[in-house]
Amino acid sequence: NSYSGWAASATGFMLSNDLLIVTGALVGSSGAILSYIMCRAMNRHFLSVIAGGFGTTSGASVTDGEDQGEVVSIDTTDTAELLKNAKEVMIIPGYGMAVAQAQHIVHEITRKLRDNGVNVRFGIHPVAGRMPGHMNVLLAEAKVPYDIVFEMDEINDDFKNIDVSIVIGANDIVNPSALTDPDSPIAGMPVLECWKGTTSIVLKRSMATGYAGVQNPLFFEENTRMLFGDAKETLDEVLKAL
Ligand code: NDP
Repeated sequence: NSYSGWAASATGFMLSNDLLIVTGALVGSSGAILSYIMCRAMNRHFLSVIAGGFGTTSGASVTDGEDQGEVVSIDTTDTAELLKNAKEVMIIPGYGMAVAQAQHIVHEITRKLRDNGVNVRFGIHPVAGRMPGHMNVLLAEAKVPYDIVFEMDEINDDFKNIDVSIVIGANDIVNPSALTDPDSPIAGMPVLECWKGTTSIVLKRSMATGYAGVQNPLFFEENTRMLFGDAKETLDEVLKAL
């Protein structure tokens, strides 16, 4: 986006068009500011991203292609049971929540659990989704109260007290290999450390990778359960069971 703004601005100089110069400069500079903010969130050097590299290495991750063990799946009734019996629940939304348009049903479940005395909070990663603030916008649209929506830095130390984390269509932002595998394309990116809680339930349709294209060892953790299916459909079932 930033590059297209600067290109428009340059074209404005060639055509002596002040409007094009000004609007191009606005798009170019706001895009550059956003890029800088996102680079900081992902622990990447601004210049290496500008020069075209996503990470610092181009090699495959050491966990790629390795047999990582078995995944344990869970059904919607057991998910509802776990949620009902929990005291502390953390909801981690990602790109898949936007694809499934599941934000409204997520709010319904949140309301139901809170009415039953469960403390429900949301943990938002700075690059969750496909644009800055993507998750915040969706949750605001669904009218989720602002005071239970927290940025990653505010809640990442709380996971040891969390009974159930629900990861809704998120993958890279909860990938522990970002912290443990220096060859991973997302090495060094801070992630939401949900595996430190009692149980994590991951909602996605398959074992497919996310944006960065790397497998996620979280899915194979002993305290992780996979709830396969479209997030909206499975959450609908969970709400009915609740
Ligand atoms: P990811 O892309 O890592 O993962 C999204 C997951 O959602 C997929 O693994 C997919 O699995 C699942 N999914 C897709 N559709 C559905 C559905 N209908 N129901 C249930 N699950 C679904 O997203 P994250 O939010 O975890 O991470 C964001 C990534 O995007 C980061 O790597 C970030 O760097 C990058 N990025 C972010 C930008 C931003 O501004 N926020 C901009 C550009 C890139 P499956 O197919 O199995 O269902």
